[in-house]
Amino acid sequence: MSLNSKSSNKNHHKSSNKKRKRYSAPPGYTREQYRKDTMQAYGVLTGIGVFLVAILVYFVFIRKPASGENPSADAAQTVTVERTTDTETESDSSAEPPAAVSSSSDSSLSTSSAADSSSEADSSVSSAAESKSENKTAEAAGHKLEVKDGITYVDGIMIVNKTYSLPADYAPGLDPQAEEAFNKMASDAWADGVSLFICSGFRSYREQEMLYNNYAAQRGADEADRVSSRAGHSEHQSGLCMDVNTTEFDFAGTHEAIWLANNCADYGFIIRFPLGKEKITGYAYEPWHIRYVGVKAAKEIFDQDICLEEYLGVTSDYKNSTDQNG
Ligand SMILES: [Zn+2]
Repeated sequence: MSLNSKSSNKNHHKSSNKKRKRYSAPPGYTREQYRKDTMQAYGVLTGIGVFLVAILVYFVFIRKPASGENPSADAAQTVTVERTTDTETESDSSAEPPAAVSSSSDSSLSTSSAADSSSEADSSVSSAAESKSENKTAEAAGHKLEVKDGITYVDGIMIVNKTYSLPADYAPGLDPQAEEAFNKMASDAWADGVSLFICSGFRSYREQEMLYNNYAAQRGADEADRVSSRAGHSEHQSGLCMDVNTTEFDFAGTHEAIWLANNCADYGFIIRFPLGKEKITGYAYEPWHIRYVGVKAAKEIFDQDICLEEYLGVTSDYKNSTDQNG
């Protein structure tokens, strides 16, 4: 018989045999005992089930209204309000809004006195209302932008380019901190066998005006705009930048240019108009033109391989110009 059942097991009744075996009570285990144990097991399982359902109900129905936080929307709102406040009071520099919200929020800088944007708690409403200045409201989103005496600062960094100009009477001379940083750099370069010197530093509004007009007369306004700046838009007027050694293009690729590009960030400088960023900076590549932004910003810009406009989230375009000089 055992032989028979074994053979049938091996053949077509394999599964049913197995099933019967699994559920049959072990020897000495009474039917009554089996039922008891089963009921106990069901009881425990039901208890666990009820507990899980209770948790589910709590999270889905009870907790929801209390939390109600839509993280992204709320964060954007908070940041907008924060930045508006910052622009107005120009006080707290520690409250740097995260860059993540850059596309969703707006800051109005066309109305250069950011004070009158105090009602801007709802950014979407304000941007719709001020569609005429769309280009500028999108600018510096997620950054702290302030205009002081006609000079624009983003995250505390002065910005001078085709969009942002300087007042005609702004004439600080070469910035002492930038000059000191350059001298330190030049001395370290010298130790490396590299000679660096300032070819052109501070330039006044009037000097720039003459320079640009000469360019425009010789090469046309388009070419002049590519390689030179209109008066008020030259970074040289800020006193924070220098042309190093020369302004001839064959400086590119020289020992000096390479040393400068690789090391200037350590002293707080950036190559202001890098190769391949012409569309963003608005200027042709200038391996000699360095801008002082401080060591922290310079290193971040260098490490990320970006230009100042990208770093600050601004444009450089005469079409967006906030020029007050006429
Ligand atoms: Zn320059």
